[in-house]
Amino acid sequence: MINGSAVDSRPVMRLDTDVLVVGGGAAGLAAAVTAARQGLDVTLVERYGFCGGGAVAGLSGTVCGLYEATDNRDAPPRQVVFGFADEFVRAIEARGGLAEAVPYGKTYTRVHDPLVWRETADALLRDAGVRVIFHAMATGVHREGDRIEGASVFTKEGPLDIRARTTIDASGDADLIAMAGLPSFVGDDGRVQNPTMIFRLGGVDVERFVATYGRDTIMPPAVSEQIIAAGASGAYRLPRAKIWLFTTTRPDELLCNCTRVVGADGRELNTLFHRDFTEAEIEGRLQMREYARFFRGHIAGCEHSFVNDTGVQVGVRQTRQGEGINRLANADVVSGAKFADGIARSPWPIELHAGQKPRVEWLLNDVYEIPYGCFVPARGEGLLFAGRCLSAEHEAVASARVTAQCFGYGHAVGHAAAIAVREAMPPRAIAGRDLRLLLNRDGAHLD
Ligand SMILES: Cc1cc2nc3c(=O)[nH]c(=O)nc-3n(C[C@H](O)[C@H](O)[C@H](O)COP(=O)(O)OP(=O)(O)OC[C@H]3O[C@@H](n4cnc5c(N)ncnc54)[C@H](O)[C@@H]3O)c2cc1C
Repeated sequence: MINGSAVDSRPVMRLDTDVLVVGGGAAGLAAAVTAARQGLDVTLVERYGFCGGGAVAGLSGTVCGLYEATDNRDAPPRQVVFGFADEFVRAIEARGGLAEAVPYGKTYTRVHDPLVWRETADALLRDAGVRVIFHAMATGVHREGDRIEGASVFTKEGPLDIRARTTIDASGDADLIAMAGLPSFVGDDGRVQNPTMIFRLGGVDVERFVATYGRDTIMPPAVSEQIIAAGASGAYRLPRAKIWLFTTTRPDELLCNCTRVVGADGRELNTLFHRDFTEAEIEGRLQMREYARFFRGHIAGCEHSFVNDTGVQVGVRQTRQGEGINRLANADVVSGAKFADGIARSPWPIELHAGQKPRVEWLLNDVYEIPYGCFVPARGEGLLFAGRCLSAEHEAVASARVTAQCFGYGHAVGHAAAIAVREAMPPRAIAGRDLRLLLNRDGAHLD
């Protein structure tokens, strides 16, 4: 039984800023850097001690969404996404933290080094003059009616009250939207894509691995058949047969995206629930060991391999999404829809991690665009959101959530926040086509 409410007797600290960004994933980083470059006072808070979110803490491993997909297997990578994504790619590449493009089915992707990612983000934030507060968890929003005026943050020093003229929810989970009581939704009627515990395998004979399986990072059907047979024999517990294995920037290493973390009762886990999140972490570690054991016994080049790392946390693909004034439809993705107020573009397929095996649906030789309204809350002022919590239908998110696009959303939303502050304008009054002009001026090549 709980008697009374918990207290924190320490004094509440206060900070005033033009733009508050909650979350330092791809979207939050791009938003904070972009807004600060417009001369604003910008504060970014992040619950971990580093930026990168799903890409670093979740060890997602690669920057997807840069290159066009095509049926022509001999075509070299054709980059179609630029702007902040391209800037980040060049910056991390210059530090030796990005591998060359590798085939991923009908397209390409680039493996990054998660340690170098952190340093690249630090440098971009420092150069732009962003005030960064690590180890700070947003626990509530400041609200005047439907107007959001910042957030309260838990720090080890005590509670910190951050007052902002514009607030950006880049938490991935639409945390601030939920705290503010603004409209949001979860997946397909509550069903989300499953989490995955990603890990790195050291001690791999990479040359023999590539000679045996080829360069495509989606493993061939023969490997899936081996996994199914090994599972059927009872010797292993391997719930996912279609797997991705990537060589990395480091010698003798593979990045393994292969686990399928579901609940003991078989349902997809939703990490918004603390019980599911905890179960996902524990089950993810168990599966990681099973797959590593299978690789040692059955995959060429992995005979002497060992697990050298997992994500800081299980990789979370999908949770809560903000309800925007627009919602990206599944049909927009598959038809390559374009919008006058499109502020980002994507060539990435629908890659739905649900059920027995991931479903991949390609968009060939084309891109679709994502309109600005997918980041403007249907209700509520002073707030924008960016990243994988965009307003989009279930299958559309399975495409629109990848890293290059999240950089693009942050880039656009950073500009929108700057306009909102400078012109004292509600974000919903900003025209997406004006943002498009600014993004093109920054080299986004949207036209
Ligand atoms: C298993 C897996 C594999 C993937 N593989 C790839 C891949 O190969 N290539 C690719 O491009 N993409 C991949 N993705 C997708 C990609 O990693 C994410 O969609 C992308 O990182 C999302 O970026 P984001 O900025 O929207 O959110 P996130 O990366 O989730 O960042 C949100 C940030 O906010 C912080 N935060 C959250 N809540 C709070 C709070 N209340 N207070 C303070 N901070 C908070 C978090 O710590 C985090 O740093 C993968 C994702 C998963 C889960």
